[in-house]
Amino acid sequence: MCQLVENQHQYFNTHKTKNLKFRLKQLQKLEDVLKSNEKEIYKAIYKDFKKSEFDTYTSELSLVYNDIKEAKRNLKSWGKVKSVGTNFLNFPAKSYIIPEPLGVCLIIGAWNYPYQLSLAPVVAAIAAGNTIILKPSEISNATSALMAQLVNNNFEANYFKVIEGGVSETTELLNQKFDKIFFTGSTQVGKIIYQAAAKNLTPVTLELGGKSPTFITKSCNIKMTVKRLIWAKFLNAGQTCIAPDYIMIHQSREQEFLKLAKAEIQKEQFSIENGNYVQIINERNVERLKKMLPQEKIYFGGNINLKKRIIEPTLLHNVSFDDAVMQEEIFGPILPVISYNSLQEAIDKVNKLPKPLSCYVFTNNKSDKKKILNQISFGGGAINDAVMHITNSKLPFGGVGFSGLGNYHGEAGFRCFTHYKSVLDKPTWLELPLKYYPHTPFKLKWIKRFMRF
Ligand code: NAD
Repeated sequence: MCQLVENQHQYFNTHKTKNLKFRLKQLQKLEDVLKSNEKEIYKAIYKDFKKSEFDTYTSELSLVYNDIKEAKRNLKSWGKVKSVGTNFLNFPAKSYIIPEPLGVCLIIGAWNYPYQLSLAPVVAAIAAGNTIILKPSEISNATSALMAQLVNNNFEANYFKVIEGGVSETTELLNQKFDKIFFTGSTQVGKIIYQAAAKNLTPVTLELGGKSPTFITKSCNIKMTVKRLIWAKFLNAGQTCIAPDYIMIHQSREQEFLKLAKAEIQKEQFSIENGNYVQIINERNVERLKKMLPQEKIYFGGNINLKKRIIEPTLLHNVSFDDAVMQEEIFGPILPVISYNSLQEAIDKVNKLPKPLSCYVFTNNKSDKKKILNQISFGGGAINDAVMHITNSKLPFGGVGFSGLGNYHGEAGFRCFTHYKSVLDKPTWLELPLKYYPHTPFKLKWIKRFMRF
C-alpha cells in the first residue's frame, strides 16, 4: 500500500491531472465504464441485499450520472481563476484565487448505497484533478468486488485504484499520508478516521449518520405527508442515512397518521418480489433491530425472518425518548411515532440529541416551519418531503456536529477536493515607502488613512 500511495504522489506531481481535458476524459471514461456494465452492476447489488434494478438506478446510478453531467458542464467555470478586489494598502496590485487539486485522496465508502456513496465522491475528486484510492465497504462484498474489477481494469493504478478490504486494510491505508480523506459511515468509525487524519493534518470530510427527526404539525396535508414519508422511510428497508428516523407528531393528528400510514404500507406492498424492498444487510443488523421492538409498542408489522434477513415495515406507537429505539440510529424499517402537545417542547427534546444529518417538516403553517428551521441545527432536509433533497446537486450534502463535517455533490463536491490558493500579484514599477523603517508619525497617519478604503 505504501508503494501505491507513493506512486500516486509521483503521478500527481507530474501535474497531468490538473489539465481540464484530462479530467473531462476521466469523467467520460467513468461514465462509459458504468453505462456499459450496468447489467453486472444490478446483479452484484442484488446479490448483496436483493436491491432491484429500479431502486439501484433511481437511488444510486442516477445520482452518480447526474454528478458527472454537472461536472462536465461546469468544470471550466468551477476551475477558473477568480479575480477579487485588492485593498488600497497594496496598490498597485491584483488579487486572485487559484483552485488547485489537493493531491492524493483516500475515499472510504459505506455499504448501504454502495455505488453512489463510493462513486459520487470519486466524481468530485476527479473533477477537481486529484488521484484516488477508493476503499468500498467490505460488507456489500459482491459490489465491492465488481467495483474493484471495473475500476482496476480501466484506470491506471497510479491515478485511480480500488483497494478492497475491511478494518485491517483500512487501518493500513490510514497509516499512509494522504492529502485528503473522504469518509462515509458511522459516527463511531468517523472518530477513528478523524484521529488518524490528525497525525498528518490531513483535511477530512466526514459523511456520518444520526437520528433524523420528522415533524408533523397540527396543520399539515396528512395524506400527502403519509405518502411521501412512508416511501422515504422504507426505501432500502430504512437503511438510508437520511431516512426519517422517528416521527414527532402533534397529538391531534397521531391516530389519523397511524391509520393512514398502515394503509399506505399495505397499499405499497413492500417486498423483494415487487422490487421496492431489500434485505437487511446481515444477520448482525437483524439482531440489532430486533432489540428495538418492544411487542407492546408495535402498532403494525414487527414480523422478522432472521434467515431471510427480512423485517416487515413496522410502525411503533406510544414511544418515549427512553425506549431502546430512541437510543441509537435505527437504520432499518422501524418507524417510531412520538406525539407532542407543544411544538416548543418537542423541539427542545430533539435538541437534546446530537445534531442530525437531516430534518423533515410536514406542515402548512409558516410559523411552525420557521420555528423548526430556526431552532434546530441539521445537515440538510426538506419541507413537506423527505430524502429527496439529495437529488438536487445544487444543495451541498453533508452533516453537522456528530452527523458530519463538510459537504459535497455538484459544485460543493468540487470545492471539497480543492484548495483555493490566494495570490497577491504586484508589479515592480511602484513601491510606497510607508511600511519601511524609519517609522514616523507622518507614515502612520497615511497608513491609517489608507486603512479606511
Ligand atoms: P461503518 O462506519 O461501519 O463502515 C464504513 C466504512 O468504514 C467501511 O468501508 C468499513 O470498512 C470502514 N471501517 C469500519 N470499521 C473501521 C475501523 N475500525 N477502522 C477503519 N475503518 C473501518 O458504517 P456502515 O455500516 O458501512 O454504514 C452505516 C453508517 O453510515 C450509518 O451510521 C449511516 O447513517 C452512515 N451513512 C452516512 C451517509 C452519509 O452520506 N452521511 C451515507 C450512508 C451511510
